[in-house]
Amino acid sequence: MFSFKCPNCDSYKYLNKHSFGKKISSGLYKNVHTEIQCANCFIDIPSNLCENINSKDFNLVKKSWFDEYKPLHLNHAAKCSKCSRFYWEIEKFFSENKIKSKDIFYQTYNPQKGVGNLVCKICDPTAFK
Ligand SMILES: [Zn+2]
Ligand SMILES: [Zn+2]
Repeated sequence: MFSFKCPNCDSYKYLNKHSFGKKISSGLYKNVHTEIQCANCFIDIPSNLCENINSKDFNLVKKSWFDEYKPLHLNHAAKCSKCSRFYWEIEKFFSENKIKSKDIFYQTYNPQKGVGNLVCKICDPTAFK
């Protein structure tokens, strides 16, 4: 067990803790191994900014989230290629509308990039079926 406080929205509730998916070889995220997803704003927060943070350090942590980590996170975060919603906006939408959906995106192939473009299930409701 650990205590959680979200530097993004001050919530004490989290959804889950997971290992960091893609490896980032430089910068701040280099030393981030796990993230915890907030149950209120749905953003994945690096564990070092939200796990067992002493209350007197919280403002410092918050500052470093908004000034340093969040701008980087925005660059790497999964985003719909149609509506430009970030993954947390989509998960929040699903949660508010009580839609259970494990996958929030599907990929369409983009030959130029060699990777799939993400399309969210809000843009394509038929993908719910
Ligand atoms: Zn939050
Ligand atoms: Zn979308």
